[in-house]
Amino acid sequence: MEISPLLSPAELLKFMSILKDARNVVITAHRGPDGDAMGSTLAWADYLMQLGKRVTVVLPTPCPDFLRWLPGAKRVLYYSKDEMRSAATQAVQNADLICLLDFNALHRLQDFAPVIERSKAKRIMIDHHEHPDTSCAQFIISEPKASSTCELVFKLIYQLGGFEKMTRSTAACIYCGMMTDTGGFSYASNDPEIFIIIAHLLTKGIDKDKINRNVNNTWSENRLRFFSYILTEKLKFYEDSRASIFTITREEMSRFHYIRGDAEGLVNEPLKVKGMRLSISLREDTEKEVVRISVRSVDDFPANALAAEFFNGGGHFNAAGGELPFPLEEAIKTAERAIAAYADKL
Ligand code: 5GP
Ligand code: MN
Repeated sequence: MEISPLLSPAELLKFMSILKDARNVVITAHRGPDGDAMGSTLAWADYLMQLGKRVTVVLPTPCPDFLRWLPGAKRVLYYSKDEMRSAATQAVQNADLICLLDFNALHRLQDFAPVIERSKAKRIMIDHHEHPDTSCAQFIISEPKASSTCELVFKLIYQLGGFEKMTRSTAACIYCGMMTDTGGFSYASNDPEIFIIIAHLLTKGIDKDKINRNVNNTWSENRLRFFSYILTEKLKFYEDSRASIFTITREEMSRFHYIRGDAEGLVNEPLKVKGMRLSISLREDTEKEVVRISVRSVDDFPANALAAEFFNGGGHFNAAGGELPFPLEEAIKTAERAIAAYADKL
């Protein structure tokens, strides 16, 4: 089985000419970067640097600790960090090409969005979220059926003839994003080509078992206790245990010495209950006066439609999110209304 081309011959030519013209490149991804956002930006940066470009990866907010081991992660500039903001802004001002990875609309960059909007540089988007805002880039690669943006980055590099020279570090970044965006290949990963790509990555000498351990088995004791506390004390079931809600307050976060990324994956846990179709988490933001919402579903339950209708958000069919104004009590009522409104789909 071959790896199918991502771009048509005409698209490939146009894409290559955009790359050829670029000297200074900025690569960015959505706020709260996950394994796919980090992996895809770092892998794409590696490839462009091999082509001789000057590349800066700028992300709106920092990555969780469990992704810091990624090769190249130390070079990333985070716009939300005071000490990095001017270097990040400078890089955007100098850029003649900006690559938007793993997100579909500029508002997902939060405060960093206006910096990008002010730049005259050409923009390309490489993403797998539905409904891309086509006005935010001149060249758009949008593949909602893809497992991850990392898969798309691999296919691009492959089609551009860069596989031979791909390093083990680049392969590790790509594997990390494919693994995390599919929950360790447990969802969104029935396409056989995914495993052909993984076979290719393994030829580069990556240790996929170690990558899994780095991401999934490096918890603090506090994080383990925090998970069990929320599931024991805070999880509420609705509609005959076909839906659930839990909340996380700032006080609880401080009690368990919460650090960025500690709630990652928690919203998936209720889906382990037999018959559960929808899980909603409501978390008080640590910086802004908002409640951050994560929505996960299984099968044909549209998490993204629910998030768009009730939580000012959106996302993938089975993994979406959004934001509501403070306070938490109001957000809980909205979430309960959402469950009631979608009860026929549960
Ligand atoms: P998470 O629950 O991990 O924060 O987000 C899951 C997915 O939901 C993300 O990959 C993204 O596609 C989507 N998402 C999360 N928050 C928002 C939001 O505020 N707005 C939109 N449009 N999508 C979001
Ligand atoms: Mn992704």
